[in-house]
Amino acid sequence: MIRMDRRQFLTLAAGPVALAWTPRIAYAQGMITPGETDVLAVIDVQNCFVPGGTLPVPEGDRIIPIINRLAPAFRHVVITQDWHTKGHISFASSHPGKKPFETTSLPYGTQVLWPDHCIQGTPDADLHKDLKIPHAELIIRKGYRQHVDSYSAFLEADRKTKTGLTGYLKERGLARVFFVGLATDFCVAWSALDARKAGFEALVIEDATRGIDAGGSLGKAWADMTGAGVKRIQFGGVRRAGTVFGHANRRYGAPVMGPRFMAGSDAVPRRHGPHTVPPAGRRRPPSAL
Ligand SMILES: [Zn+2]
Repeated sequence: MIRMDRRQFLTLAAGPVALAWTPRIAYAQGMITPGETDVLAVIDVQNCFVPGGTLPVPEGDRIIPIINRLAPAFRHVVITQDWHTKGHISFASSHPGKKPFETTSLPYGTQVLWPDHCIQGTPDADLHKDLKIPHAELIIRKGYRQHVDSYSAFLEADRKTKTGLTGYLKERGLARVFFVGLATDFCVAWSALDARKAGFEALVIEDATRGIDAGGSLGKAWADMTGAGVKRIQFGGVRRAGTVFGHANRRYGAPVMGPRFMAGSDAVPRRHGPHTVPPAGRRRPPSAL
């Protein structure tokens, strides 16, 4: 009879088990798991910025189900809200002879002029009704000064006036900010860039944003963000509780494990995930997601 001490036995016994687990572990290591010092920043998911609003971002509403599925993975969530006065300086209507999407020169620099949008207290400025993030801890409003616009969640367009978000995040020990929302090339990009300047790690979850792309602004925004060290990731790269081995990742070739590993709201397979969106001509309305 072969004698084996306990250590040898455990090593041998663990061998096949470790082998069996390797692909799963390797897959999981490619995912980002949000932790205690991470925060999800949901930028301007308001009626004004979705189709039907005053400054609609194409497909802006399609990110809402994605954000709703992402948010539970984050213990900390902050939301921003564009919140303008009537006759705000960023509105083309406040500059005689100017049209939306033209620019003008203001004391703090060149300003893109927009249609009237997100006016304080109007339904247009409300957060979208389908956004479901009850555990969000802060709603920060920006752009409420009559003579200064604010794309960024951190610094207004004069690049001096602070919104207070830097202090809030730092006081709470939050160090890594994941951005989603509207629009990729304006409020999301400016926020992510300012997050880097303020010393935070910044990631943009690309498929949970949509851009306006006026005059190549989307490509420029990504180039600027990449150059500043903002990471570009996708919804599928964020590990959500209980789903890493589940149906949501099947199309990425991940091994699938039993239901005991699939706790949480995603335990029930869905017919459509954000990465199973059919081509434009065959898309269902967002309510079908
Ligand atoms: Zn605005």
